[in-house]
Amino acid sequence: MSKDTALIKEHPLPNCFSPELLMISRGEGVWLEDASGRRYLDFTGGIAVNALGYGREDLAEIAGRQMKQLIHISNLYITEPALELANKMIARGLGEAEQSSGANRIGAVQFLNSGSEANETALKYARLYAHRKKGEGHHKLLSFSGSFHGRTMGALSVTPNAKYQTPFLPLIPGVEVGQYNDVDALAKTLDGTFAGVIVEVIQGEGGLAGMSREFAAALNRLCRKHEVILIADEVQTGLSRTGSFYASEGIGLEPDMITLAKPLAAGLPLSAALIPEKINSLLHVGDHGTTFGGGPVTTAVASKVWDILSDTQFIARIRDRGGDLAEKLAGLAEKYEFLGGVRGRGLLLGVEVLQERLARGSDTTAIMPALLAAFREEGLLILRSGVNILRIAPPLIIEPEEIEAGVTIMARVFDKIATGALKLENE
Ligand code: PMP
Repeated sequence: MSKDTALIKEHPLPNCFSPELLMISRGEGVWLEDASGRRYLDFTGGIAVNALGYGREDLAEIAGRQMKQLIHISNLYITEPALELANKMIARGLGEAEQSSGANRIGAVQFLNSGSEANETALKYARLYAHRKKGEGHHKLLSFSGSFHGRTMGALSVTPNAKYQTPFLPLIPGVEVGQYNDVDALAKTLDGTFAGVIVEVIQGEGGLAGMSREFAAALNRLCRKHEVILIADEVQTGLSRTGSFYASEGIGLEPDMITLAKPLAAGLPLSAALIPEKINSLLHVGDHGTTFGGGPVTTAVASKVWDILSDTQFIARIRDRGGDLAEKLAGLAEKYEFLGGVRGRGLLLGVEVLQERLARGSDTTAIMPALLAAFREEGLLILRSGVNILRIAPPLIIEPEEIEAGVTIMARVFDKIATGALKLENE
């Protein structure tokens, strides 16, 4: 196959996807291969999903065995893999994110299919708690500028991004948006009319801004004071990616609920909402559910993934690798005048692109897509976050030499830009 045949220019998927899509055929470790046999180093991890990389015989063996034994049975029954995984999750608990009183101790785990659905569940349970505990008039939901919580109507309603929201208005009522990391504004806004607050510890899609310790402490204090359910959306940050098992632990946030998804089954669709006993005790049979969530195949795989991702040595390695990568990115940022600061933690890192220094006119819209395409041409897949942040979220098994290889490709592309050999704008 020729070099270009893997780039599919006409496809049957809807126009909400890019008109040109690269056809990826297989993967091994942190490497991917497209349909023409070209190899790429993967700094995307399937958008922070493929924590254990590609081509895992151990996971394939578990999934295959479980598919032969029992593929699906619905939430009318329970299976051994779901039972085992939920018990492990409860036994691990929230770690340092648990309040000293234990009021947020996990009482149950609900399995779902996507990050959006896990957040949807958490928002519904915050409202259910308010209804059943406090009665009418406590239903409001608070989210923050720059956040991303998903695309379903409820999750979208707490995702204050006009591009995503406007075509789908009106959204669900009762949502307010606060300024991320603004403690004073939070203190003025939050009161007993709110049922829940949903927040990210690092804003994975919104530009990788991180929560300050002061903001985490204020959220803990004010949510407790007004009896508001504090939801940490750890769909992207959870399960060790940021160098602590839950990112909440790393920052002193003590949520009542945590939502998990992306790496939970290392590539199979599985998400979860961790539910405190104070909410679980108010739930009635039939209040909420889902057909596929927590099936035996996804949970069997996730049980193995859980053991690996919760291993303290594995987490320490992520901190090392992340520190190494952050240092190298800082080196690039220092060298190239069109790069700004480095952000993120662990192996969820970003570097700011000062687009106005690269654009000839005032229109900067072509810069980031052209930059990502230039990396791809050099054999590196990389993500964008927010408007102008290059986001790196590789499989967590990445080795130092692979980090080095990726940074070398980045430097090669930046050199071409710096010398004028590569222009990022359409002519
Ligand atoms: N929350 C966060 C923090 C996310 O990063 C994402 C996905 N990027 C979602 C929610 C939505 O997850 P999903 O696409 O699986 O619905």
